[in-house]
Amino acid sequence: MDLSYILNELGEERENYFNAVSPPIIQSSNFALKTVKDFRDALAEEFNYDLYSRGNNPTLNILRKKLAALDGAEDALVFGSGVASISVPILALLQQGDHVVSVDNPYSWTVKLFKNMLPKYGVTTTFIDGTDIENFKAAIKPETRLIFLESPNTFSYELQDLAAVATLAKSKGIYTMIDNSYCSPLYQRPIELGIDLAAQTATKYIGGHSDVVAGVVTGSRELIKKIFENEFMTIGPALSPHSAWLLIRGLRTLPLRIQRSFESTKVVTEWLQKHPLVDKVIWPFKADFKQYELGQQQMAGCGGLFSFTLKDPALKKIETFCDSLQHILMAVSWGGHESLIIPSIAAIREEDYDAGPYNRYQLIRMYVGLEDPQYLIKDLEQALGKIG
Ligand SMILES: *Cc1c(COP(=O)(O)O)cnc(C)c1O
Repeated sequence: MDLSYILNELGEERENYFNAVSPPIIQSSNFALKTVKDFRDALAEEFNYDLYSRGNNPTLNILRKKLAALDGAEDALVFGSGVASISVPILALLQQGDHVVSVDNPYSWTVKLFKNMLPKYGVTTTFIDGTDIENFKAAIKPETRLIFLESPNTFSYELQDLAAVATLAKSKGIYTMIDNSYCSPLYQRPIELGIDLAAQTATKYIGGHSDVVAGVVTGSRELIKKIFENEFMTIGPALSPHSAWLLIRGLRTLPLRIQRSFESTKVVTEWLQKHPLVDKVIWPFKADFKQYELGQQQMAGCGGLFSFTLKDPALKKIETFCDSLQHILMAVSWGGHESLIIPSIAAIREEDYDAGPYNRYQLIRMYVGLEDPQYLIKDLEQALGKIG
């Protein structure tokens, strides 16, 4: 399906709403039925009916059609946050006694799901280095039911060979799920590589303006229906129609925004790598990236998140550098119009930090937004000047 068709037309039935170009926000909790028979049918198969907005809502369903098509998937579900688009499907797939193989260091709240929440239901998780397919083979047990991927990782950027993992999992009857937030469906289409479920936060690139929190999961109609009819309806993570409308609006400009972020990141990473105070610059589309070939093979482009380290990673140096930035904001999240920075040292106590041999707490993560890259470089230059 044409990308332009998906973003501008798919799912939109303009003749039903005065030929408005922008779809209406159907701000209604419930929908009336004409006959008892219609009511009975809707209650028996709520997945297929606009009955109640915890399940279906027409504004959300425009968004679902577009998001499913972007991933080349049969269907999609949208959620009130990205973490709900990960936790709710996982709860739907697993039973007591099941085992999960997850890549090391997925998104922080995904780690908490595996380490703190799932053990309450008798589900255990083995974390592995996902850069080598042999590690997956070694970790699989008879009770393994799910392999969880995040490629690239959004701090340290490790990739997994998605097609190889999908083939391995299929041969053993194990579900596969990926957090595809980094690339968005424009730059990586995991469903087409054989992954069962692709989740992503829509808070980041899809919303794109730092004004909505949401998530999406795509997959086969069978799996999406299974999630909808059980955990989605019982846990109740529905997104509001207004937020869905903001995401539809975000989608209209997604290709332009992500391309701008990608192009500017090339410029900023090249500049940083030449700076005498900067050591590593880690970005999957940089020629010296460890898994560069794999990235080129399975990603059509690259997101605007990258990390770097200072030659002198003393805590004070990192702090002074970050505190000195005047335009690049220090904040969580990414994918919006504004460039952001997160020093990993903010995530641990000062006394636990080790400025010695390289470790992931030395990383400074940057997101390159829509500003002129030269404007960002000037800001980085003056802040680096404060520690030179
Ligand atoms: C932000 C993020 C999430 C969580 O999304 P929310 O919308 O904040 O709930 C999950 N995975 C990754 C990689 C993220 O960056």
